[in-house]
Amino acid sequence: MLKTSRRNFLSAGLVVPVMGATSNMGLWPLSAGLPEKPSNSPVKLDYRTLGHTGLKVTTLGFGCMITSDPSVITRAADLGINYFDTARGYQHGNNERMVGAALGAKRKQIVLSTKSPAGDKASLLKDLDTSLNELKTDYVDIWYLHAKSKPEEIHDDMIEAQQIAKQQGKIRFAGFSTHSGQQQLASWMVQKGAFDVLLVAYNFSMDATMDQAVQTASKAGIGVVGMKVMAGGFRSLKPTDPIYDKLHRDGALLAALKWVINKPGVSTTIPSMTDMDQLDENMKAMGNSLSAGDEKLLAEHLEQIQPFYCRLCGKCDGTCQKGLPVADTLRILTYADGYRQFALARERFQELPAKHAAIRCGDCTECTVSCPNGVRVSDRMARAQELFA
Ligand code: SF4
Ligand code: SF4
Repeated sequence: MLKTSRRNFLSAGLVVPVMGATSNMGLWPLSAGLPEKPSNSPVKLDYRTLGHTGLKVTTLGFGCMITSDPSVITRAADLGINYFDTARGYQHGNNERMVGAALGAKRKQIVLSTKSPAGDKASLLKDLDTSLNELKTDYVDIWYLHAKSKPEEIHDDMIEAQQIAKQQGKIRFAGFSTHSGQQQLASWMVQKGAFDVLLVAYNFSMDATMDQAVQTASKAGIGVVGMKVMAGGFRSLKPTDPIYDKLHRDGALLAALKWVINKPGVSTTIPSMTDMDQLDENMKAMGNSLSAGDEKLLAEHLEQIQPFYCRLCGKCDGTCQKGLPVADTLRILTYADGYRQFALARERFQELPAKHAAIRCGDCTECTVSCPNGVRVSDRMARAQELFA
């Protein structure tokens, strides 16, 4: 991995103090994120500009969170995918190391993002140094504050940490990721004027308010990256799984990816990919519009998954009589049921507030959470408790 890039910029006097979200534009050579079209790519690559960052990214990116085989990541880069996302905490910190090793000599041709969940300036900056060390790079292109669901969770000193990191040349652009509360957060981030990129859960199960949130951000020049694009995935189900017949539908996940890629305002997407077959399948989404057949397939698929899949709309927030964080719990359950990542799901479940650990939905005579989207909340919550508590 090349470790000279930032030093070159520093020695050339190209990195100067910056305070605004866009004020480092032009200081980094955009060529560091420009695609080099590989001659051996079997599909047509499709690029978009990531908001005012100016970075040209393939509409299919790579979410590395659950990938264990580095050769899948390396092959994706060889095929021309140029946006890769990881985070400090993925796979107990091992994911960044694997991603750094997998991308190796490709570092200068790709756009690399990572995240930190830390809640204060000092911890964030410490995490960033660890990330750079693990990724074996001098800088990341985008550094996200990880998993924020309301503006109050993003303090000024956290934004200051991102600005300091820019000044130091350790990051090029700043953003945050969010699974819920996107509508409020999108407007807030535009007003705040401190961020370059929004990493947002976005898929075909979501309603028009999410379309608006994405467009609010993108119209303001904020780059939008879509995650959770397959609405729970359920790709890894095997025919022997009891819910296979209900949740598996040939072609639905490719259609789901096309749905997001074709949404106005989205620059790139980061589906998880664990093997070569998934990579090959997802590559087909680039440059293809959503057909009437795809829309029909997605409508049928949504009907099947809706009792199981929480679309993180937030409409049930605060309605559990025992105070359980329903959307967070159901999102975590998806890691096990949808992605087959039981260890990850249990780890995330155990990070939820300890005061809820002993609560069992089976002890409620009636569930006070009513999901307008048809999720069987008490059943799904009970399953999460059974699996992880
Ligand atoms: S359980 Fe239903 S209402 Fe609650 S966040 Fe999920 S989809 Fe929305
Ligand atoms: S059944 Fe579970 S989710 Fe529903 S109100 Fe009781 S504790 Fe809350």
